[in-house]
Amino acid sequence: MNLRPYIRDILDFPSEGIVFKDITPLLKDPEAIRQAVDALIDLIGNQEIDIVVGIESRGFFFGPLLAARLNAGFVPARKPGKLPAKKISVTYELEYGTDTLEIHKDALQVGDKVLIHDDVLATGGTAKATCELVEQLGGEIVQCNFLMVLDFLKGVEKLKGYEIRSLINY
Ligand code: AMP
Repeated sequence: MNLRPYIRDILDFPSEGIVFKDITPLLKDPEAIRQAVDALIDLIGNQEIDIVVGIESRGFFFGPLLAARLNAGFVPARKPGKLPAKKISVTYELEYGTDTLEIHKDALQVGDKVLIHDDVLATGGTAKATCELVEQLGGEIVQCNFLMVLDFLKGVEKLKGYEIRSLINY
């Protein structure tokens, strides 16, 4: 199934000059959800996964669905101030300013095999910060997978050394 028709471009959101890739049409269609999950699972092949780490917030839509299929747990990487228990943080550069992601300290065990998932890979800063959080806790990153990669923003280069897979490239 071609999932491209289920991704909608919204011009100038959240700010001027950005083309926002809106996945709500995909989320509204049960067959598209099933096909997206199947295709994301196919990307992993027969690699073993203990934990799926989903990135706030659109990594939370498919992350738990993938975890259930992989017989793995799900762990959220969250924006500051959302996680209630002891946590670690990584702050990373944006085009203007910085952003921070956090993960619970007890979310992973040393040696856990981790799949990182989000909807879109753009510049790669967010995914790179998530990789750092996972590695600080001793997790082994097996793959980072995305519904979409925006090739022109060169996120894959920022994530050199990691296996990066996606369903759609723009
Ligand atoms: P980046 O750190 O630049 O790779 O940005 C990735 C994060 O921002 C992901 O969590 C995406 O959900 C979001 N994001 C970045 N660019 C877009 C876009 N054009 N459309 C939708 N989400 C985006």
